[in-house]
Amino acid sequence: MYRYRRRPFCQCSSWMKNEISVYVHLPFCVKKCNYCDFLSGSFDDGIKRAYLKRLLLEIDHYGALLSGRMIRSVYLGGGTPSLLDPSFIRSIMKKLTDITMLKSGCEITIEMNPGTADERKIGSYRECGINRFSIGLQSVNDDELASLGRIHTYGDFLYLYDLLRKNGASNINVDLMTGIPHESMSSAERTLETVCALKPEHISVYSLIIEDGTPFSQAEKKNLDLPDEDEEYAIYEMTRRILSGHGYERYEISNYAKRGFECRHNITYWDLDDYIGFGAGASSRLGERRFTNIKSVEGYIGSDDPVFDEDICLDERESMSEFMFLGLRKTAGISRSDFARRFGKDPSVFFGSIIERYEGEGLLKMTKDRLAFTERGLDVSNIVLSEFV
Ligand code: SF4
Repeated sequence: MYRYRRRPFCQCSSWMKNEISVYVHLPFCVKKCNYCDFLSGSFDDGIKRAYLKRLLLEIDHYGALLSGRMIRSVYLGGGTPSLLDPSFIRSIMKKLTDITMLKSGCEITIEMNPGTADERKIGSYRECGINRFSIGLQSVNDDELASLGRIHTYGDFLYLYDLLRKNGASNINVDLMTGIPHESMSSAERTLETVCALKPEHISVYSLIIEDGTPFSQAEKKNLDLPDEDEEYAIYEMTRRILSGHGYERYEISNYAKRGFECRHNITYWDLDDYIGFGAGASSRLGERRFTNIKSVEGYIGSDDPVFDEDICLDERESMSEFMFLGLRKTAGISRSDFARRFGKDPSVFFGSIIERYEGEGLLKMTKDRLAFTERGLDVSNIVLSEFV
């Protein structure tokens, strides 16, 4: 990791497209969950105010870049953005719209956690244009929620979900987690069936990863009571079956949606389109340039100028790799003609031996214009994707 200040834009940003997505990181939580290694934590009101001030200054700093471009999606992520007073969210949205235009139908998402929002907040979000609500649930089983260190029960989630619907929310995502302590086939089935019955437009399902430095990483594995590998695979298969049975289309490794409700913001990342991230630890991509803000709330607040933990321009080979390992996450895979337009030749010219090997094993399938995982390939996508890096 290195850190330095640099001029705002390098040569490789010169072919940027007109549309851009915006990510805003709000790292404030009631308390840290047992598995969480995100840049988030519990901070006092003084830090929150200083953070907002710095955030608005940062958006101003990129005013010239943003003013010539149309925003296609905004994602207010965290942390727990819904923990903040809604005036924070209003000032961020106002700053963005003062500087530039939102594309008509712009997708604006806010992440929410049960137990942190009420009707007043939801009304305020809707007034400032937020039209997608992403709720962190993880499980409907209260014993599993408690072991994850979540601050809420399933009842708290249901209260928030109903409140959102009552206040006109028509695009809701629910985040679920598998491979968690005390989980069994029947408890996972209960979570999936209960959430599907509520009919959210989008469901994300990620497996628990024990990250270094989290309370889970310090606990004895046997005390965590995690499902074993076979159980985890059976839960994974059941997840696909239940979600597809309820009309959710899997459009990315971990994401399922009713048709037309795929998350446009996340598609920006997988399609390698431009995005800019504001806030501590937020990453940006402008053309071939990638940069990540300092990964510390105090460090971010402490400087009026951008301070980066990473700032690089990818060379052509790195860009090609990125195109493959991000694009293949989508179940539709990558377009061979898009690749050729960008890099001059078909992907098989550069990745021929990898593609041939996994096509032969029935994990990848190539058609006239596309290259994508097969159903079986999606099961082991991590191994195959790592070959393109
Ligand atoms: S709510 Fe999310 S960001 Fe906050 S501690 Fe829990 S997992 Fe981390």
